[in-house]
Amino acid sequence: EAKAAGRRLYSVFDFGMDQRLLERRALEADLKKALAQDKLELRYQPIVDIETQRIVAAEALLRWNHPDFGWVSPETFVPIAEESGLIVPLGEWVLRAACREAATWPTEISLSVNLSAAQLKSQGLVPTIVRALASTGLAARRLELEMTETVLFEENVALDVMNTLRTLGVRFSLDDFGTGYSSLSYLRRFRFDQIKIDKSFLRDGSDRPDGEAILHAIGGLGRTLGIETVAEGIETPAELAVVRAAGCVYGQGYLFGKPMPPQDLAARLLDQGTSELSTGPDGEIDAH
Ligand code: C2E
Ligand code: MG
Ligand code: MG
Ligand code: MG
Repeated sequence: EAKAAGRRLYSVFDFGMDQRLLERRALEADLKKALAQDKLELRYQPIVDIETQRIVAAEALLRWNHPDFGWVSPETFVPIAEESGLIVPLGEWVLRAACREAATWPTEISLSVNLSAAQLKSQGLVPTIVRALASTGLAARRLELEMTETVLFEENVALDVMNTLRTLGVRFSLDDFGTGYSSLSYLRRFRFDQIKIDKSFLRDGSDRPDGEAILHAIGGLGRTLGIETVAEGIETPAELAVVRAAGCVYGQGYLFGKPMPPQDLAARLLDQGTSELSTGPDGEIDAH
């Protein structure tokens, strides 16, 4: 239906040019407009401590409700924004909006924000982050930047920017770990604080036994190198059991919560806050 509308709309410009290219151009223009009109939204997905199942962090995830097509997946529009360079102002908006939101949360959990390669290469990233933290009052140690290995191809630029941000207290997470190339050397070279293990290892787990073995290996790697491990995409109690047995410390997935509006996350945090005042074994109230 959406495609049909797109075809009707752009057939007049189609002088043999690739239809998909035209659709991307159109989406790119619409995305630019959405950004300018402040129509983009963020959802926040909990990251929990596997042992206690308490929320220790939340990842900000972009959402775009297109006026004609409805919700467009970030898997579709983020690559378009990356190719066009729009990801730089878009990413800046995400950083500011997410920091502003996290500063209001009832407990001081961490905020994870995804970063694209173009943002790391752009001169403006450090001042953008400094401004976002200063204007919202969010403590730098609460901000964790997630990046995939593709970000790191421009090694020296990435290292410079990361080292500068690290001195502020910002932390770094290697996202979708295990799907790219030189994972192990990158871990050491860029001194990541955290590894997020790609959900494909869990999803393929039942019919591909090596998925589970890889989870174990990465859990061990994290312990050895002193790097936090987060297993992504935990949907079922059985998958949680696999992750726990693999020795991963943190988990994220629909089992603990889907990406949610900020007020829902705040409610979850408040709820968690009151259950903190639990009765200890000696009958006294323990406030942790
Ligand atoms: P990601 O950073 O790896 O984010 C995790 C994705 O897994 C999210 O998809 C999340 O909704 C999904 N997910 C979480 N738990 C489960 C689960 O239990 N099962 C399944 N099947 N999926 C789960 P989402 O929100 O569609 O985002 C897709 C990707 O788009 C992200 O992958 C990230 O690479 C990119 N993205 C999203 N927001 C931003 C942003 O603000 N900036 C940048 N640069 N990229 C973003
Ligand atoms: Mg991520
Ligand atoms: Mg990921
Ligand atoms: Mg991803």
